[in-house]
Amino acid sequence: MSIVIIGTGMAGYSLAREIRKIDSEVPLVLITADNGYAYPKPALSNALIQGKQPEQIISADAATMAERLNAVIHTHTRVTTVDGDAHSLETDTAGTVHYDKLVLATGARPIRLPFKGDAADDLLSVNDIEEYTQFRTKIEKAERVAIIGPGLIGCEFANDLAVSGRAITLIGPDPYPISTLLPEAAGKALQQGLSDIGIKWQLGTVAESINHAENGYELTLANGDKVQADVMLSAIGLKPDVKLAEVTGLKTERGIVTDRFLATSQPDIYALGDCAEVEGQNLPFVMPLMIGARALAKTLTGTPSEVVYPAMPVTIKTPAHPIVVAPAPRGTEGGWEIEAATQGTKCLFKSADGTLLGFALTGEAVEEKAALLKAM
Ligand code: FAD
Repeated sequence: MSIVIIGTGMAGYSLAREIRKIDSEVPLVLITADNGYAYPKPALSNALIQGKQPEQIISADAATMAERLNAVIHTHTRVTTVDGDAHSLETDTAGTVHYDKLVLATGARPIRLPFKGDAADDLLSVNDIEEYTQFRTKIEKAERVAIIGPGLIGCEFANDLAVSGRAITLIGPDPYPISTLLPEAAGKALQQGLSDIGIKWQLGTVAESINHAENGYELTLANGDKVQADVMLSAIGLKPDVKLAEVTGLKTERGIVTDRFLATSQPDIYALGDCAEVEGQNLPFVMPLMIGARALAKTLTGTPSEVVYPAMPVTIKTPAHPIVVAPAPRGTEGGWEIEAATQGTKCLFKSADGTLLGFALTGEAVEEKAALLKAM
């Protein structure tokens, strides 16, 4: 019996750790297209506030992880195809690898929009430690940063960069920040908190072109305004990486389609983490992948176990105005009830019969998280 995991992000490594808690001997192979560093990805968007250099975020390199996990780890190795019938896969540098059980933990990739202009290619995105290291070098001398995408990751980077003394402009078509996750009252509270530390907003509009300027860059917006910047960051969202799954013929929708056992449409192939769509839900956060890793480790070592998600609050790392949001499951019917708290906003998502299904807390109201989770 051998288990092969594609990906050494938080999903791949969490699964390997959970497997080792149950079985210290089963042959385990991890394959990754990157350098295989183990690090908490959420730390990328508040490293400046934490006073951390990129290398201080890394907890272990691939060789250390291989030793700790009693595993073989192939780094800088891309899996190009999987043959489900033969239970084997092809890689670009390590030849053919056979498996009994295969897990795709291929993560998500930043969505890139095709902007016009002679500097469109200079727009950065940050979704891993290598990109973050390059970003840190670029922002060293930067005074003005334009961030396209006022969502969760855009707002977290904006807060981090503003506290470190840079002038930030957040740009996007949304009416208020993090509008896909937060009700308006919570989003507006966040917007005020970030404005208070100097962040500027260009909402309800989009960047149309990006050009070199005499000093740095100039972004021309659809509303006619121009934004000057030394560095530009794209944070318009992530898309599950389903490329390999598609080549393999696995069923995909937004992510790789799985059941509650994280099993894909082909026998002995599973998916976990940002790339997976578990019974219709793609949940690109740490807690769902941890819960999934625990269940999948049991399944792969002989005890089939369904993933059962509890309420999973997401803490948004915007210390200028802290936020905790526990989204209601997708497609749930209900409405927001807004209660103004002294220093913040308390938003409760309830069904027609008054059942609490989710919440968003901002400012000092975040202290009510534990009580609300209990109530849910
Ligand atoms: P990834 O980390 O993307 O790993 C994918 C792996 O697959 C990589 O090793 C890659 O090399 C490999 N791979 C892909 N294709 C192939 C192939 N064909 N062959 C070989 N290898 C391949 N979540 C929270 O819950 N809280 C937070 O505060 C938070 N903050 C975040 C801040 C930032 C800046 C970002 C970007 C994300 C944040 N998230 C947060 C989300 C969270 O970090 C992710 O959900 C999680 O890290 C995803 O892990 P993953 O292993 O699924 O994917």
